[in-house]
Amino acid sequence: MSVDTASTPINIKEIRDQFPVLDQLVNNKPLAYFDNAATTQKPKQVIDSLDHYYGRDNSNIHRGIHTLAERATSAFEDTREAVRNFINAPEKEEIIFTKGTTDSINLLASSYGRKYLKEGDEVIISAMEHHSNIVPWQLICEEKSAKLRIIPVNDKGEMDFEAYKSMLSDKVKIVSVVYASNSLGTINPVKEIIDEAHKYEAIVMIDGAQAASHLPLDVQALNCDFLAFSGHKMYGPTGVGILYGKRELLEAMPPYQGGGEMISEVTFEKSSWNDIPYKFEAGTPNIADVVALKEAIAFVDKVGKENIIRHEMELHDYAMEKISKFENIKFYGTAAEKVGVISFLFDNIHPFDIGQMLDSAGVAVRTGHHCTQPLMDLFNIEGTVRASFAVYNTKEEVDAMIASLEKVVKIFG
Ligand code: PLP
Repeated sequence: MSVDTASTPINIKEIRDQFPVLDQLVNNKPLAYFDNAATTQKPKQVIDSLDHYYGRDNSNIHRGIHTLAERATSAFEDTREAVRNFINAPEKEEIIFTKGTTDSINLLASSYGRKYLKEGDEVIISAMEHHSNIVPWQLICEEKSAKLRIIPVNDKGEMDFEAYKSMLSDKVKIVSVVYASNSLGTINPVKEIIDEAHKYEAIVMIDGAQAASHLPLDVQALNCDFLAFSGHKMYGPTGVGILYGKRELLEAMPPYQGGGEMISEVTFEKSSWNDIPYKFEAGTPNIADVVALKEAIAFVDKVGKENIIRHEMELHDYAMEKISKFENIKFYGTAAEKVGVISFLFDNIHPFDIGQMLDSAGVAVRTGHHCTQPLMDLFNIEGTVRASFAVYNTKEEVDAMIASLEKVVKIFG
């Protein structure tokens, strides 16, 4: 992605000092963690927040009038406001806490999809979607006899925008696409995708799982109808995610799950629903992790997304320059607009062998299909080796990865 080179440089030592997990040997070598697209490591302020919550404030929320219940409730609701601000949503009631991106998309497909899709309608996704933005739509389309249509992707891993435009019609009710691909790093032109869909009154869901810590997320500027992302991919805890939705859409949607908190009144004959966002937050939520998510947002905001992406892309370009020198290597995802993800394969070397050899040198990369099997099928491969960068990675770590790749090539090449 094009970056503002004038923005403040980051102090890498100061940043690394905030991540205790990075300071360790793995297989007797300093850990170099390049599996950030799967999940990022957590800064101390997130870990401390969990400790503080369970050590001081633990209580169930929204129901009690005692001090701990009030403290827990206000910490939980403070995060909702922090998320609202993080994505520039108009109102905090439009922020629903879920378990993660997967849960958010399932909520949307089950609730919105079940209410509004009918036979012959169409849902559009792209060929580079994560399984979590494929399977929920397959399930609801099958149930409703609607059709799931796929935007093609070219050899560089870019969405075919003209093909997308030609697929739009009054039959299309939902477009659900990924902002940044986890397997390839491609950044999609989501604003244009949304504008085109709105011409046909289709609603648009953006999968922001990989965008949350790298790309600006402004739901009002994008004018997306829904946005899903996960806390754990943006330096926050696992088990907490977000579904943002426009108020009028959320209000018109039926509940996803039934239980405590999501009701206004229950009788054996009939129940009525709470207001948004509680209508979609049945049962005791993941309070501690929601509370700690606020600290992850504070961390990202303090470092600044511009600085994060600039640092990651510097590492990406540095690594690309070195890795490109290997013979018999092929890269997957060479789009002009990318986040810091490098996906590659060597001829005749199985990705698992590469992953294992790198691990023995303390270098953590991901190998496999990255939950994007249809995309791998398109490239006619089973999977790739993926290195994905975060704000705490260094050029020394990239050098360690290159040195182990040299060994891999010597042994297996
Ligand atoms: N979408 C994308 C682009 C992802 O990268 C991921 C996770 O890798 C998901 C969705 C699913 O996220 P989660 O497992 O946190 O629900």
